[in-house]
Amino acid sequence: MQHIIEKLLILQDRDRRISRIREQLARIEPERQLFQSRAASAQAGLDNAKLKVKQTETDRKKLELEAESKKQQIEKYALQQFQTKKNEEYRALAHEIETCKEEITRLEDKQLELMEQIEAFQKQAAGATREAEESRKVAESKLKDIAAGEQNLRAELSGLESNRDQLTAAIEERALRQYERLLRNKGDNVVVGIQHGVCGGCHMKFPVQLMVSCQAAKEMITCPNCGRILYYTSDMDLAVAD
Ligand SMILES: [Zn+2]
Repeated sequence: MQHIIEKLLILQDRDRRISRIREQLARIEPERQLFQSRAASAQAGLDNAKLKVKQTETDRKKLELEAESKKQQIEKYALQQFQTKKNEEYRALAHEIETCKEEITRLEDKQLELMEQIEAFQKQAAGATREAEESRKVAESKLKDIAAGEQNLRAELSGLESNRDQLTAAIEERALRQYERLLRNKGDNVVVGIQHGVCGGCHMKFPVQLMVSCQAAKEMITCPNCGRILYYTSDMDLAVAD
């Protein structure tokens, strides 16, 4: 095989590995965001549960104060009742006191309802606390793994890239330009073998003459259809597929 083809095949192998590593690196950020957003949403669930406890507690406290003021109101009315000499006024005050008592009962019932709600919300908050903690731990350990994996990939990539620089420095410029143009246009399968008489890239069937010149390996031969750089080795089948 031509010396230049050997070099290009090695280069192509490096380029394939480089592109695989770049693909792996491109998947890292979405993966990282996935674990971060899971942890964030578990934390948001916890914050929300805590907020519900707090808000309901505030509502309950308000009812308690209302009931307290009704009790003071009753004391005031009772004092007025004690001081009045008029029956009508006495009865009116008795009615006010009764209304206040009813209102206090209503407020106390409502407070009990809210206390039950608070208890339920506290249970939710306890569950949310465990979930948030779990998600945080998972995210922490996954992010650590991801960071370590990323570091390895970056180190491997930089090794491959500097190896690539060495390889390209040893390749004749015209051939390298041709290879790189193909690499940009056709991806990382640009130095292809001839097998069963067809192009390893576009699968066009070749005339025997082209295969013979490729076998002779005196110049760089490209596929007349797709432009890929062709090579022929003795273990490849010269026979046309039909
Ligand atoms: Zn082709």
